[in-house]
Amino acid sequence: MSEARDTEGDDGVRASSLDITDEAFGELAARAVELVSDYFRGVSASPVLTHTSASELAARFDAPLPGAPDALDALFADCRRIFEGSRHSGHPRFFGYVASPATPAGAFADLIASALNQNVPAWRSSPAATHVEKTVIGWLAQLVNYTEGAGGLLTSGGSMANLNALYVAHRTKARAAQGDAAAGASDVSQKGLWRVARPATVYVSDQAHMSIAKAADILGFGREQVRVVASDENYRMDVRALRERIEGDVRDNFQPCCVVASAGTVNTGAVDPLAEIASLAREHDLWFHVDGAYGALAATDASKRALFAGLDAADSVALDPHKWLYTPVDCGCLLYRDAARVRAAWAGSEADYIKIFEETEEESFAFFDYGVELSRRFRALKIWMLLRYYGAQAIADAITDDNALAAYFAARVEAAEDFELLAPVELSICCFRYVPPQMRRQLATTDEAERARLEAEVNELNERILRAVQHGGRAYVSNALLRGRFALRACIVNFRTTRRDIDETLDIIREAGREL
Ligand SMILES: *Cc1c(COP(=O)(O)O)cnc(C)c1O
Repeated sequence: MSEARDTEGDDGVRASSLDITDEAFGELAARAVELVSDYFRGVSASPVLTHTSASELAARFDAPLPGAPDALDALFADCRRIFEGSRHSGHPRFFGYVASPATPAGAFADLIASALNQNVPAWRSSPAATHVEKTVIGWLAQLVNYTEGAGGLLTSGGSMANLNALYVAHRTKARAAQGDAAAGASDVSQKGLWRVARPATVYVSDQAHMSIAKAADILGFGREQVRVVASDENYRMDVRALRERIEGDVRDNFQPCCVVASAGTVNTGAVDPLAEIASLAREHDLWFHVDGAYGALAATDASKRALFAGLDAADSVALDPHKWLYTPVDCGCLLYRDAARVRAAWAGSEADYIKIFEETEEESFAFFDYGVELSRRFRALKIWMLLRYYGAQAIADAITDDNALAAYFAARVEAAEDFELLAPVELSICCFRYVPPQMRRQLATTDEAERARLEAEVNELNERILRAVQHGGRAYVSNALLRGRFALRACIVNFRTTRRDIDETLDIIREAGREL
């Protein structure tokens, strides 16, 4: 048997303690702050993305498991290389996906949350943080004009918020209707599988985010139980088609359970007709969920408020502070109207070790009674810091300007003879393509076969433009496929972007188009 290790030195400090001296702490802090402030100061002037390959990264970063301490110099030099090998959503000409820059207040809030390292599953284990999260939920509900007194919880992102919402929708609507009777009404099919007499159905538009279908799949909805409803020419859900589908399903003995509307689709930023969908949902007793992961926070822009009429009628709303509230990743949110129903949906899964003995309702509150996760990061702090540091008006102004800049983007596209706008700009996403003027004239042909051939050619050209622009590192746009057309897609959720950045980006794209 080996001799027991001496755990403590003569000074009473544990030999294996990971605490460091004040001096070492100061050095670490200074280096980290230097790195972060250099980044915030320099990100606008750096390339959006320095093109790199997997093998280059492997050559740079592959290393054996460090057995002993590394020098601080080497460590921070490599940190800088990680920054260099990244794509920078903080760059003013980053228009890809839905990716916003972080603010210094948000970044430091994450540092503070990590230092406190408060796990936030319930009031009992994190009283102050739980209270702050509930406060922040109230603020978010207010920002998007959702019901007063709304409950909710922060999640890793919109996908997790959507999953939580669909779970509650299914439990509340489908299981309630099928109840235990479902077991009696089930029959064993020839393959020996249990079949519920009335399969539950979920309704989404053909523009819905992929996380909805994924959530439905996780929850056991079959592919055919997710009803994909057509969108209209403005990429909004066609409510008449939705009605027909629901009524048909009722006739065919399905159990319509939930409709998911998008408040800002990820492709074009279209906002579904929320009020009409809300009333249809009410008529058929469906759970009404709004996926506002990208767009809901645009309700803070007074000029866009009308688009969000009806959002307050939703049973639940997903939104993403890490998209349009400029908080660092990760931070999503699910708001819901009726806490009791959400609690009831999750009831029955408690284990002994999480039993809560507090007296008051407030003190027995647990986020795990309302969602999937048990251990949860203290995400509320970065929203709390952000809103207190800047004030809600400054954030609303930034969002309003993002929308105005997207309108400017679209106006520039429409005024140009070699660009074509491919979708209305409702919020801050502009979808367009490069079409050389002579091709544009040819596309007006009535010869369908010829037009199809030209469309394919334009698609291919724009795919190549996309790659060239992304590799070039001066601007970054992503893409969308709209009714068979390959679109260059610019999403502005970036308080650093200016008109000049948009002009420059269009020049960069035009240059690439001419070269190809
Ligand atoms: C981004 C997005 C999601 C997914 O959110 P994550 O935070 O990436 O998980 C869902 N729906 C829409 C409309 C989105 O834009």
